[in-house]
Amino acid sequence: MSYQEIIHNQRRFFDTNTTKDISFRIRELKRLKSSIQKNEDLLYSAIFNDFKKSSYETYVSELSIIYHEIEFSISKIKKWSKRKKVWTSLTNLPAKSYIIPEPYGTVLVIGAWNYPYQLSLVPAIAAISAGCTVVLKPSEIPLKSSAAMAKIINQNFSPDFFKVIEGGVQETTALLKIKFDKIFFTGSTQVGKIIYQAAAKQLTPVILEMGGKSPAIITQDVHIDMTAKRLVWAKFLNTGQTCIAPDYVMVAASIQDQLLSAIKKQIEIADYKIENQNYTQIINQKNFDRLKGYIDPDKVFIGGECNEIERTITPTVLKDVTLSDPVMQDEIFGPILPVISFNSIDQAIADIKTLSKPLSCYIFTKNKSIKNRILTEISFGGGAINDAVMHFIEQGLPFGGIGDSGIGNYHGKAGFEAFSHHKSILQKSFLVELNLKYAPYTRSKLKWLKRL
Ligand code: NAD
Repeated sequence: MSYQEIIHNQRRFFDTNTTKDISFRIRELKRLKSSIQKNEDLLYSAIFNDFKKSSYETYVSELSIIYHEIEFSISKIKKWSKRKKVWTSLTNLPAKSYIIPEPYGTVLVIGAWNYPYQLSLVPAIAAISAGCTVVLKPSEIPLKSSAAMAKIINQNFSPDFFKVIEGGVQETTALLKIKFDKIFFTGSTQVGKIIYQAAAKQLTPVILEMGGKSPAIITQDVHIDMTAKRLVWAKFLNTGQTCIAPDYVMVAASIQDQLLSAIKKQIEIADYKIENQNYTQIINQKNFDRLKGYIDPDKVFIGGECNEIERTITPTVLKDVTLSDPVMQDEIFGPILPVISFNSIDQAIADIKTLSKPLSCYIFTKNKSIKNRILTEISFGGGAINDAVMHFIEQGLPFGGIGDSGIGNYHGKAGFEAFSHHKSILQKSFLVELNLKYAPYTRSKLKWLKRL
C-alpha cells in the first residue's frame, strides 16, 4: 500500500469518529501495553543488537517510561478530555463559554535513534490519548529496534489507526510531502529545520524536540560527592547519548579539583563496561569518529580510550576546557564531559548565554539567590536543581525545548494537549438580546457599551 493510501485510510477512519470515544482510546492504550509486554524479549534483543544496550538499561530508560506513560494517560484521559468551562463576559450574558479538546486528526511521529522505543512510542501514546490516528516513522539508525517496533505495532493494530512506516531520509521526505494534521519530530536541530520547512508548505503545526548543549552549573557550597554521583550517572547513562545529558560542567574554580576527583571516584565505582550492563556502544562509526575528534589528549583528566573495533569510548572527562575548544562548538552526544571553571557567577551566566538556548540546565547549589538568578537569566527548555536528567520522568512537568532546542512540549497532560486543538465555544440562549451592537449606532448605545 502506498503512503498516500495509508494516510487516506487513516483520515477515513478518523472521520468515523471512532477515536473520539474515550473507551476506544483506553482499549488501544491497553493493547499497546500488552503488545509490548508480550514482546519484551524481542525489544531487548533488538536494541542489544543495535548498540549493545542492556535489558536493564532498556527497561529503566525505555520500557518503564512507556508503561508509566500509558498507565498515567489511561487514568487521566477522561479528565483531560472534558469540556472546560470558562468565564463569560457581561456583554454576552446570558451564555456560557467552554473549551472542547479536539484531536488534531492524522498525525506523523518521527523518532530519534538514541532511545528508539520511548522517543517513538511516548509521543504516539500522547497522540492516541488525544484521539488521533498515528503514522510512526522510527529512526532507521537502530535498524533492529525499528524493525521490532514495526513488527509489534503493525501486527497488533489496524493500519487505519496506528501504523509504523520504517525508513530513513528518502522515506521521511516522501512522507513529508503528504498533508498531516500535526507532525511531532524528535532529532537534531539541523533536521528539525527541514521538517519545519516541509510542514510550513502544508501549514501543518509541529512539535520539534531537539537538542543542544545543556550545562551543569556547580557552585562552591554543594555536597560534592552527591553532585558527582548524580552528574556521572546522568552523563554516562546510554553512554552519553542522551539529549538531556549534562553536556558540559561549569564549576566554581575553588572546588574544581575536589569535584574532578569525586567524578573520577564515581566513574571507577560504576565500572562502566558493556559486560557490566551499564554501558553501550557508540551508535555508529560516524559518531565514533566525531566524538574521537573532540578528545584533546592534553586536556584528558580521565578516560579518552577509544576502541574502534568495539566502537566504545571510555568515560572521558576533559579539564581546563575553554569555550573556543572544538568540544564546545556542538552538542557532544557521547561520553565526554568537558569541565570549565569559573571565578564569578556573572561570567558563567554570560558564557552560557553565548551558546544557543539549551534543552536542559542543571543547577547544583545551596545558594538561593544564585539559583534564582540562573532560573531568571538563562533561557532553557527545562531542568533540575541539584540533580540532572531526572526531571524527564516527571509527568507533571511539560518536556520540551526553546529556540534551537525545540518548539512545544509533551509528557503527561502536555502530551495530550500537544495533539489536541482547543475548540473554543460561546453558547448563547434565545432568552434576551441587547440591542447595543446593532445599527443604528447612537451616542447612548456607545456610552452603555463603554460601561459594559
Ligand atoms: P536526526 O535529526 O539525524 O534524525 C531524526 C529523525 O529524522 C530520524 O527519524 C531520521 O530518519 C530523520 N531524518 C534524518 N535526516 C532527515 C532528512 N534530511 N529529512 C527528513 N528526515 C530526516 O537525529 P538523531 O541523530 O536521530 O538524534 C540525535 C539528535 O536528536 C540530537 O541532537 C539530540 O539532542 C536530539 N534528541 C532530542 C530529544 C528530545 O527529546 N528533545 C531526544 C533525543 C534526541
